[in-house]
Amino acid sequence: MPSRADTLTAAAVRLVGVSLTYRPRSRWSKAEPVEALRGIGADVGAGEFVTIVGPSGCGKSTLLRLVAGFAAPTSGTVTVGGEPVAGPGPDRGVVFQQPRLFPWLNVRRNVEFGLRMTGVPKRVRTARADELLTLVGLGQVAGRRPYELSGGMQQRAAIARALAPDPAILLMDEPFAALDALTRERLQEELRRLWQATGKTVLFVTHSVDEAVYLGTRLLVMSRGPGTIVLDQPSELPRAADPRTHPDFPSVRETVAAAVRRAASSDPEVS
Ligand code: ADP
Ligand code: MG
Repeated sequence: MPSRADTLTAAAVRLVGVSLTYRPRSRWSKAEPVEALRGIGADVGAGEFVTIVGPSGCGKSTLLRLVAGFAAPTSGTVTVGGEPVAGPGPDRGVVFQQPRLFPWLNVRRNVEFGLRMTGVPKRVRTARADELLTLVGLGQVAGRRPYELSGGMQQRAAIARALAPDPAILLMDEPFAALDALTRERLQEELRRLWQATGKTVLFVTHSVDEAVYLGTRLLVMSRGPGTIVLDQPSELPRAADPRTHPDFPSVRETVAAAVRRAASSDPEVS
């Protein structure tokens, strides 16, 4: 098995001069084009946990959608594992703020869904789903429907579903934002452990500076729209123990918080 040091050398996600302007679909529309991203450049190594913070509307979701292959840039290039992104793929798992589970399928079938689509035999996919449900603490409720689960449990199921095809990259768009504080804290802790155990590359969008600094081995801050990257720095906080207990946690936190404050107050027309 390659060590973390080996896998870190490979570029998992690369964005070069990426800009995206949303244009109205119909030429009769009176909507103005929206410049969501401008000149984004970033190189994410395999195994990094990148957290992305920025004011609402700065293009965080758009950035993830580009890497997920749900959208294409207006200019610039997005590559995953050295290949240009041409659409969604099993190498990238996506978790949204809302779990978006299929209400008519039980939890196990939800987790299996992607595998069923790619023709994985039933016995294999059921075993895989059960293994993942155990990993996220849902082993006991595999047969239940989503509406029988709490919000935190549904989000765990959504994470298991994203992990099912064993993607190298996990794209998470404010996955814990809708949860209560206690559940959120527990899921943060679980995600940190899961990342450590699997060595996946994670791009994680959040509004919470604390969450970003707690989880991220690399911290990105974006400016108000059109989104640009205004801070991109590795976090030296050790990952073996809870980073929040480290003496440097407050200063790293303040660096990110200050960048977010600057980003939120800056006038995009002036900067
Ligand atoms: P964030 O996730 O940081 O809140 P988004 O990426 O969702 O920001 O949006 C960035 C900008 O693009 C916002 O101004 C938003 O209104 C606009 N936007 C997002 N999606 C679309 C769309 N499908 N069509 C037009 N404008 C959009
Ligand atoms: Mg968003």
